[in-house]
Amino acid sequence: MNKTVKRIVVILIILILLPAAFLTINEVISLDQNEEVIGRIYSNQLDAILYSVNQYSEDVVSNWASRIDLFLDEVDKLKEEEIPGMVDSFYNEFPSLFMIFIADSINDDNIALLGWDEKDKYFSVDQSHFDILINNLLVKNKGLVKRLFTYKQAGYRKLEPIEADTVEDGSILLFIEETPQGTKRITGMVIDPKEFTYRILSPKLQEVAQQEFLISVFNTSENFQFNSSRDFKVKEVQQSKALWIFPNYKIGISLVGQTIEDLVKQRALTNILLIGLLTVVLILGVWIVYRNIKKEVELAQIKSEFVSNVSHELRTPLSLISMFSETLEMDRVKTDEKKKEYYSIISSEANRLSKIVNSILNFSKMEAGKRQFNFVDSYLNDVAENVYRSYKFHLEQKGFTFNLTKDETIPIIKIDEEAVSEAIVNLVDNAVKYSDNKKEITIRTGKENNFAYVEVEDKGIGIPEKDQKKIFDKFFRVSSGNIHNVKGSGIGLSIVKYIMDAHKGEVRLTSKIEEGSIFKLLIPLSR
Ligand code: ADP
Repeated sequence: MNKTVKRIVVILIILILLPAAFLTINEVISLDQNEEVIGRIYSNQLDAILYSVNQYSEDVVSNWASRIDLFLDEVDKLKEEEIPGMVDSFYNEFPSLFMIFIADSINDDNIALLGWDEKDKYFSVDQSHFDILINNLLVKNKGLVKRLFTYKQAGYRKLEPIEADTVEDGSILLFIEETPQGTKRITGMVIDPKEFTYRILSPKLQEVAQQEFLISVFNTSENFQFNSSRDFKVKEVQQSKALWIFPNYKIGISLVGQTIEDLVKQRALTNILLIGLLTVVLILGVWIVYRNIKKEVELAQIKSEFVSNVSHELRTPLSLISMFSETLEMDRVKTDEKKKEYYSIISSEANRLSKIVNSILNFSKMEAGKRQFNFVDSYLNDVAENVYRSYKFHLEQKGFTFNLTKDETIPIIKIDEEAVSEAIVNLVDNAVKYSDNKKEITIRTGKENNFAYVEVEDKGIGIPEKDQKKIFDKFFRVSSGNIHNVKGSGIGLSIVKYIMDAHKGEVRLTSKIEEGSIFKLLIPLSR
């Protein structure tokens, strides 16, 4: 590899690939951390939702407690016979509340009950036993009741659930309030958690959950589960919390469809895919830049070679001309025959010189896109024959067998005679330059499909398969074999190709190393 190209590759690697590699590695490493952070955020979010449901249920019962307290103050003022009717309408306002009891103190043996009518549905004990049961519960939860008293004294009414195995299907919430007489009153609300879930919590759960989550209230020991929606299947509850007001129940939440892990994994996968894609694009970009730079560097190199090749080609005829003209000038040539020979060398070298200069001029015109073509009706055979005639003597002198084979059926076609002739001359020049021991050149015309063609065949050194396409590139010269002995500028075939393109034709090459080459110029019969 060329030094400049090597340097550019190093710069590219340092400037683009290295930072990209660092970025990629960093990104992959931080994916794990990101996953953790995202997982935590999701879990916090779920926690917040659970918290809000808990808060809501507590707000509801707290509101009930206030209203019950007001009611109890009223009941005290009522006549005995008015009470049952009032109590019935009161309970209708609190779905799932089926019992209220009131005690003056922990050891109160005169516990008042409101709503006893429904007891058979909920309690396994009869009324005579119920006050004992409540009494026992209060005694058992003495510590908690005392705490409630302390809170109340501090001016704060708190609601606390108590454990009550003996109360089937009911959860008990205690709170303490002051009576209008200034004494304290322990009030217990007995609530059916299932009813509460169905009638009070259900709408709230649905509102919070919407389509994204599934929220459930469940009691594992009783095999009870209520879901905010029946439309979704949930593999398992992802996160759960105790329900504050019913210690035996829990609320759980799950993402519908996807679990948090699924989501995080999916995100991580997308990220890695994106990073991978980015890396591929970067590598591709670097590769394209590298290719272009390499091409440019090679072209620059080839151009400088071209300049030295051309100067070399110009120098040979120039030095011959100056040498022979000087000899003639000094009158050192004695015989007329010798003089004639020298004049003819001078004229043929001058010819060669003008040919080289012409081809360079044509090439630069072609490069600038300024070369113009003049298409006229012509006989391809005539053009080929003219080239053949002008070369015949010269080649035979050099020991070549030079043949022309014409296909007389070729019709008149529209071509730029001068340009086509130049193309054939270039091919013949090459055939001469690149012939080794077997000096045999043939110009052949013919027809093929919708094309007329003229081809130049030699039995020379041939062209390696890998170079057969490249030789039509400007400045390109085959670098293997004994080519370095032959002078050239590398523009001849690119001119031929250009001329054929202008004719909407093509150049076809058949060549085998050591056996020779055939360059075929195909020109469309009708344009
Ligand atoms: P140059 O001035 O080098 O001859 P060309 O563009 O005419 O430039 O040709 C390009 C290269 O193709 C030559 O350098 C030579 O290597 C190869 N080439 C062209 N014609 C022939 C041929 N008839 N036989 C073998 N090699 C050829």
